[in-house]
Amino acid sequence: MEGRLSFIKSPETPCLKCIYPESPPSEVFPVVGATPGVIGSLQALEVVKYLTGIGENLKEKLMVWNGNKGEFKNYKAYKDPQCPACG
Ligand SMILES: [Zn+2]
Repeated sequence: MEGRLSFIKSPETPCLKCIYPESPPSEVFPVVGATPGVIGSLQALEVVKYLTGIGENLKEKLMVWNGNKGEFKNYKAYKDPQCPACG
């Protein structure tokens, strides 16, 4: 019921490793099918905005979708100067 989205264009923005320094858990967990639909639509919108230059991408932001509450929240994403991937 939760999805996350950001716009990553390294080295201009924080990379995925900056945002999530730890590896994802190895266990399999259930996903409500509508959640990837919500996030996938927003990912497509990010690409359209980037390619057309219209609007603002989610640079240095992490958008979190909480399907239980029907809420989006945006958080600041920081570039890690010690990041092994982009630092
Ligand atoms: Zn990084």
